[in-house]
Amino acid sequence: MIPLEEARDFILASCPVMAPEQRRLPDALGCVTTSSIMSAEDVPPFANSAMDGYALRAADVASAPASLRVVDSVMAGDGRDVRVGPGEAVRIMTGAPVPAGADAVCMVELTRPGPDGTVVIEESVGPGMSVREPGSDIRAGTEVVAAGTALTPAHLGVVARLGLETVDVRRPPTVAVLSTGDELREGPAPLPRGAIRDGNRPMLLALVAEAGLPVVDLGIVPDDEAALRDVLAEAARTCDAVVTSGGVSVGDLDIVRMVLSEVCGPSMRWMQVAIKPAKPLAFGLLDGRVPVFGLPGNPVSSIVSFELFARPALRKMGGHPGLLRPSLRATAEVDLPRRPDGKVHLLRVAVEVDAAGRLRLLHPSGGQDSHQLRAMADANALAVLPDGEGPAAGDDVEVLLLDADRLFAGAG
Ligand code: AMP
Ligand code: MG
Repeated sequence: MIPLEEARDFILASCPVMAPEQRRLPDALGCVTTSSIMSAEDVPPFANSAMDGYALRAADVASAPASLRVVDSVMAGDGRDVRVGPGEAVRIMTGAPVPAGADAVCMVELTRPGPDGTVVIEESVGPGMSVREPGSDIRAGTEVVAAGTALTPAHLGVVARLGLETVDVRRPPTVAVLSTGDELREGPAPLPRGAIRDGNRPMLLALVAEAGLPVVDLGIVPDDEAALRDVLAEAARTCDAVVTSGGVSVGDLDIVRMVLSEVCGPSMRWMQVAIKPAKPLAFGLLDGRVPVFGLPGNPVSSIVSFELFARPALRKMGGHPGLLRPSLRATAEVDLPRRPDGKVHLLRVAVEVDAAGRLRLLHPSGGQDSHQLRAMADANALAVLPDGEGPAAGDDVEVLLLDADRLFAGAG
């Protein structure tokens, strides 16, 4: 058996990083920039009002209350050349250009209408009050997004505000997913004796999609060497990485292991990783260049193996700065006994943030056998238990956070 880190380091080192390309903004969420993005302009481009109120000269209202003559009204988008003279005010809405001559805005809540087209300013406002200066968000000539940034919705908003329609990013790898096994079926038809439904492929397709990557469904492949060879050849032609499940153990029909060692040549490595679940793992390069992850067939092993090996490797291919799930410390609410066996155990667990903001490991989320996928569905983290007797209630435990949206007390 080899340690988890050694297996992962080997895989990460073998996976190529994708080439850069230009992408339109709607297709760039989650992609990683390959060059820094500079601003050619100030945002906002002109001084505008932060409030609905009155644009005025601060000096005119140095002693308040003060009465000003309302000479005009400007809305957001109003491009007219409007001016404010001494003793004057202009009604102004949020986002409207501040008229020439005005140096402050008094919010409408601090005013009341006066007689004969006047307004009474009830409190004095200092120069610059409620005025958004040009460039106060983004200054022309500055870097707004560094190279190597995974683009969030807010980044896309920033880039759009600069008028850019495309960004230079690393092309996300297209990932093919297939299941192997003569026993696998899909759909509602009653199962013949010995058959089960394919849960891994829908799960792995979704895991790839959740990682923000394009995915191709290559279906169920029977335990047949020629059929598997054909599908892998097709995948190597059309995709950048392949994820298979099943057929990597030591059984008679574990043909994935056999076919991969044939088609990947010396790049194929069949590993026994010192973890539970997900001990067996095959990895190689199709045609010497397309990474193929041979994940185990047991559903829990399959998803844990994806989390520990395939996801970080696919993120590396896409140029991501952070490859691993966040590793946090949680206080165990219950004993988590285990036996020493030379392996790191990865438990499916429920964690929550309590009212004081502390992370608590509540309990295992269900049966922990490698066929018991239900507990994975009910988990929001994997607890990492080093070899030994296991932590006791009150101990600090390392957890890999899988789902921050389900972290809070009562989030279910
Ligand atoms: P294998 O790795 O092919 O030996 O499969 C190990 C176990 O996982 C067996 O019980 C298989 O029936 C089961 N299994 C394999 N592939 C899938 C799948 N796609 N969905 C659900 N169970 C599977
Ligand atoms: Mg099988």
